[in-house]
Amino acid sequence: MAFPTTPRSPGRLVVVQPLKRKRCAGCRRGPLSLLLLEDGAPWCLACADLGHLVFLPRGDTALTRRSWEESSLSAVVVRFNRRKSRYERQGVLVEAAALARAEARCLADAEARRRRRAREARGRAMADERFAAAFTAEILRLFPGCPDGRARAIAAHASVRGSGRVGRSAAGRVLSEGAVTAAVVAAVRHVDTPYDRLLMSGVARYEARRRIAPSVEDVLRTWRGAGEEYAG
Ligand SMILES: [Zn+2]
Repeated sequence: MAFPTTPRSPGRLVVVQPLKRKRCAGCRRGPLSLLLLEDGAPWCLACADLGHLVFLPRGDTALTRRSWEESSLSAVVVRFNRRKSRYERQGVLVEAAALARAEARCLADAEARRRRRAREARGRAMADERFAAAFTAEILRLFPGCPDGRARAIAAHASVRGSGRVGRSAAGRVLSEGAVTAAVVAAVRHVDTPYDRLLMSGVARYEARRRIAPSVEDVLRTWRGAGEEYAG
């Protein structure tokens, strides 16, 4: 059977969603929802030996392309748009097994993408861990009296990705002494002094900082002294 082609899809079988009610030139069934034009006559898909194909609507480009590649027999489905005066592609007809293989390939791709994202997330987590470890080491170098647990907590808090905290700033990333000290001071202020309680009770921030400054200095002095234990 010689199949017609249209100028829009040269070399491809074209199946039409008819706008008018048509009957099959072979078996006389009708009206046909899909037909193949041969020598100007409409044929149903069964008579055109296309009855075993399944319709895949347009929309998923990758799935369509792969179904097309996998299918040894396939057809483009078009419908005439009167307003635009042209045929528009509605989808494709492909073998069911080909569609299944194409779907499997698309799923494998999605799985590969998911694995890559997970791999990248693990890489970021490891970089974060390395950074927090370096931050901790730098805290302990500058403040040898700081308890290990406190140093790790301060580093972890300062290093939280996307937090905008000191650890994520440019100075923090290169672990400048100023950035590390700022993170330690902030932690001491909140944990070792009544700073937060003062703020909550309505004391202005500069006044609260002035009142707790001696306590902060005491802690920092203790932590700076190597070997000295601080019971914090
Ligand atoms: Zn027929």
